[in-house]
Amino acid sequence: MSVVLVVNSGSSSFKYQLIEVTGSRTLASGLVERIGAAEGRAVHKVPAGDASGGASESERVLPIPDHTAGFQVMLDAFAANGPSLEEFAPVAVGHRVVQGGARFFEPTVVTDLVKINIDELSALAPLHNPANLQGIEAAQRAFPDVPHVAVFDTAFHQTMPPAAYTYAIDRELAAKHRVRRYGFHGTSHRFVSRAAAEFLGRPVEELRLIVLHLGNGASACAVSGGRSVETSMGMTPLEGLVMGTRSGDVDPAVLLHLQRRAGLTADDVDDLLNKRSGILGLSGHGDLRDVEAAMADGDEAATLALEVYAHRIRSYVGAYAAQLGRVDAIAFTAGVGENSALVRSWALAGLEGFGVELDPARNEGPERGPRRISTDASRTAVLVIPTNEELEIARQTVAVIEA
Ligand code: AMP
Repeated sequence: MSVVLVVNSGSSSFKYQLIEVTGSRTLASGLVERIGAAEGRAVHKVPAGDASGGASESERVLPIPDHTAGFQVMLDAFAANGPSLEEFAPVAVGHRVVQGGARFFEPTVVTDLVKINIDELSALAPLHNPANLQGIEAAQRAFPDVPHVAVFDTAFHQTMPPAAYTYAIDRELAAKHRVRRYGFHGTSHRFVSRAAAEFLGRPVEELRLIVLHLGNGASACAVSGGRSVETSMGMTPLEGLVMGTRSGDVDPAVLLHLQRRAGLTADDVDDLLNKRSGILGLSGHGDLRDVEAAMADGDEAATLALEVYAHRIRSYVGAYAAQLGRVDAIAFTAGVGENSALVRSWALAGLEGFGVELDPARNEGPERGPRRISTDASRTAVLVIPTNEELEIARQTVAVIEA
């Protein structure tokens, strides 16, 4: 039995899952949030199962001054509600780290040097890497005797060829500032591409796949033989598809225009494109369920938002089909991809001529697990594959420490 604690740390919160890797079982999960605020909050969930007996959920509201205190609150929650960390002792802690740059192309055991590198990559991910590092350091204090492993969101995309990751700008300037495409959601794209192959009963090495991770953030990935060859997010998670609050692709000159003509500063533009754009900017709703409800009520802005969202996905599917030369399967995943039959059908509308044919009854059916939503005759299989980034981090963590 290999138990791994998976940690995903933000600047004022962290999520955790205790996972038994061999059986792919979550033994407990939780969230510690509002770290540093007057009142913090910690939620600890134990699913029904042999680790504990019945399912339980506990919540505490208390001041949590920093991440180190947050981990103590988490340890207290395990002691009070189970499962026992002595019985289910983690062999390692796996950490999600957003930006691994060109340096990290695989999960890596955390050493002092690795921490220096993660910190140094903060220049490329100022919102994420410092927060990830805070989580690592606090978790190391809570679990000083086991290895900690960093699993990078960018690593899976390090197999992209230079033609896919190079921006056509001045080479020397780009190299000096490490401006290139890195891609994100790699853990999810890797997990889903392998789960799709398993679902199809074929080795991933033989397959050419397009994975559409549509959650709050959204990205597409072309996966050939199990390797990422192209993905829609770029140097930052802003490029590519339309997202909940992020614009995805815009003409870069729009930014200059807004700075020169609308008096926006660089920080204003950053805030606009990352936090006030996407379906929120177009419709006033950041949650896709609300956009769909508004559209059903005849809201034209909501309808356009969904049309723009689906149109962009279709453009990427076409582009990636051209890059791959053949598409064995398209896999939808994450909150929107797993749940919105409407987005799935709009995104792939009109692609029958390319061998992509959705089955409306399958697409709209109530199933939740991995499933096929294309017709049997469709040359390209269309799948819904629920993602599980925590399980993927746990698996990769075990693979590194056992290597
Ligand atoms: P994630 O980042 O994977 O947690 O996905 C979050 C997004 O999934 C949110 O924007 C939700 O609106 C969306 N979502 C979750 N459930 C549904 C649903 N039933 N229909 C449409 N969108 C959904």
